[in-house]
This record gives sequence, C-alpha cells and structure tokens, in this order.
Amino acid sequence: MFWRSILNGLGGPGIPAHLRDDFTMLTAHHMIGQARLLFAGFILSLPVVAYGASPGAGPLVAYGLPLVVLALATLGLILLARPIDFDTSTTQDARRAIATVWKLCLLSAAVGSVWCIASWASAPVETRIYYPAIMSLGALMLGYCLTAVRGIGLSVLLVTLGPVAAALASTGQVMDAVLATAVVIAVGFQLLMMRRHHHLLLSLVEERYRSAELARHDPLTGLANRRALMEHFEGFAERGRAVRLMVVDIDRFKNINDRFGHDMGDDVLRAFAELLAIHARGEICAARLGGEEFALLASADTLDPAIALQVLGEIRGAYMPHGEQITASIGVADAVVAGPEDWTALYGEADRALYRAKNEGRNRVMSFDAEAASSAQIEALRARRA
Ligand code: GH3
Ligand code: MG
Ligand code: MG
Repeated sequence: MFWRSILNGLGGPGIPAHLRDDFTMLTAHHMIGQARLLFAGFILSLPVVAYGASPGAGPLVAYGLPLVVLALATLGLILLARPIDFDTSTTQDARRAIATVWKLCLLSAAVGSVWCIASWASAPVETRIYYPAIMSLGALMLGYCLTAVRGIGLSVLLVTLGPVAAALASTGQVMDAVLATAVVIAVGFQLLMMRRHHHLLLSLVEERYRSAELARHDPLTGLANRRALMEHFEGFAERGRAVRLMVVDIDRFKNINDRFGHDMGDDVLRAFAELLAIHARGEICAARLGGEEFALLASADTLDPAIALQVLGEIRGAYMPHGEQITASIGVADAVVAGPEDWTALYGEADRALYRAKNEGRNRVMSFDAEAASSAQIEALRARRA
C-alpha cells in the first residue's frame, strides 16, 4: 500500500481495476524483451567490472561480486528463455515473469552498489571518482531498460544510486557534491521519463479496451452486438454445454417508424433494449442481432423458458417513448453445442419458432418443435410437387 502510494505519487496515475490485467500483460511483454538484453549486457560487462575493481577492495569484491551477478544474469536468461505467448498465457504468468525480473534486477543492483561503495572507499582519492561514475551510467541504463514497470525502475534506481549519492555527498569535497547533485538530477529526470512512459502505456491500454468495447456493443442501444453474442456462444460451445437461445422480435415495428418517424423508432429500440438488459445477469447475454431483432442466450439451466413469458409481460406493460404499448414475439431453441459451427442450426431453429409465433398472431412465445418443423417441411415439399 505504502509502496503503491509512492509509485502513484512519483510514477504517474494508478491503474484502474478494469485495465489492470491488460496493463500487466503489456508491461510484461515490454519488459521481458528488455530484461533479456539487460542480463546479456550484465554478462558482457563483467570482465570490465572485474578488471576495474579497486585492488584495495580485495578479491571478494573484484571477483566474488561479479560472479554473483554472472549467476543472477544467467539464471535470468534461463528463466526468461522460454518464449511467452501473450495470446494464451495468463496474467498470473505475466506477474510471475515481472516478479522474477524484479528480484534478479534488485539483487544485481544491490551487488553492484556494494561493488561501487567498497571500491570507492578503498581506492586512492585521485581515482575513486571513477566508481560512482561507472555506477551511475550502469544504473541509468538499468533504469531505462526497466521503465515499463514503475516499481522495478524506481526501486533499482534507489538501490543503485541512493548509496552513491550519499557517499559522494558525505566527503565534503565540492566536486563530489557536484557529481552527487548531477546524479540526483539524472534520477529525477529518469523518474519523469518513467512517469511519461507509464502514461503512454496506460493510454494505449485504455484505447485498446475502449475499441474492444466498441467492437462488441451495439452503438444505438448499448447492448451486446452479434459479435459479442457469438463470443458468448463460443464460450458455451468450448465447454460442450446445453444452451438456450431466445430470439425476440418487436411486432409491427415498421408501423412505429412509419407513424412516428425513424428517430422515435430509435427511441423505442433503446427503451426496448433497456427492458432486455435487466435480464442480462450472470451468464445470460442480451444482444441486439440487428434491426428490431434481439436475443437472450445462456445455458439451458440458467435461461428458464419462463423468462420468455416474463419478458413478454414486461414489454406489454412498459411505457414506450411514442406513448403506446408494444408487443413482441419470441422464438426459443435449445441445443447441446460443441463448436461455433452449431450456431447456424440453433439460430435457424429459434428463427423458425419465431416465424411460427408471428404466423400464429404475434405477441407470444414459441419453442422450436422438431416434429412440427419436419411435418411443415413435408407439407412444403408436397405443396411444391403438387
Ligand atoms: P413483424 O411483426 O413481422 O416483425 O413486423 P415488423 O414491422 O416489426 O418487421 P419488418 O421486418 O417488416 O420491419 C422492421 C423495420 O425495422 C424495418 C426497418 O426500417 C426498421 N429498422 C431496422 N433497423 C432500425 C433502426 O436501427 N432504427 C429504426 N428506427 N428502425 C429500424
Ligand atoms: Mg418485427
Ligand atoms: Mg425482424
């Protein structure tokens, strides 16, 4: 909580709950690629670090600490070697990868810090300034690579440059104080960049979320559209569930348009959608299929056939914007579905049931009846032959 409020203060706005998962996936995606490069960079720079350590700091600092970083960076490369498929992996996977990078970077940063301070403290006065300079360059590079995740960037900067700035400030030498100030300014600048980066990623995720929402909703009524209904259906199909589809069509809607105008027709469609939306609870999806045709879809257990009668009653009793009552007809069909291809058959059956409801006087519910359908087909065949 404390860390989060620091982050929000220094690193930009918090992440809204509905965007958190998408944001985590995106930042993990950015960060993992950069962390791989970073670990490879650590390994390549180790000979320089081992060579450059102050002789006075002893072999543990000169060789032991670089070996620890070698082990951490190698471990990082191994753990991140498996390519992550961000389309199929979960937020949990992404969080785990971020935590791995965080731990390894923080440990490497702490080791680097010890190397720098131990070398600085044991080096002759005329050469010790090199160590904070080397450390600052490395830390800023590290911070830059990790900007995608504010917590990592910020904590790594603090661990690497905090002790450096404090050590420099403590000597009382003017030029040390100048370097300490330059380090603090560079850290401040880096934090500013992190903040901007965070804003940028957040607006990207927000934009993606908004366009995904737009693509799944009907602009006139705000209900789910056919595409969203299909996704819902595919979810049931993947689980091999028995589903129920109710196709709800407003009766004689064209008359409303003709008498009151298209805009009033739109208002009626919106009011009608509000009535259906009340039933879009739990796994029930309420959608506008197009025109004045709507649908309710859910598992057969959830979408009780009685709901269709209830909906008809609510429609009859509702106040509509044009000041008159309206009615609707509903066609119901059930099926155990195994794949997206089963949609056509299920919709066809609900549509045939709806057709019967219209033929038998409208303002009623009809369920698909296989026997009635096949005898109707035989009748139609006979009529064609005659
Ligand atoms: P039925 O009882 O047989 O369903 O008769 P109906 O008049 O409701 O059906 P029909 O298919 O004859 O007419 C549907 C009308 O819906 C025709 C079309 O202009 C109108 N419509 C389709 N989309 C919209 C829309 O977005 N807004 C408005 N206002 N009208 C629409
Ligand atoms: Mg109609
Ligand atoms: Mg229609």
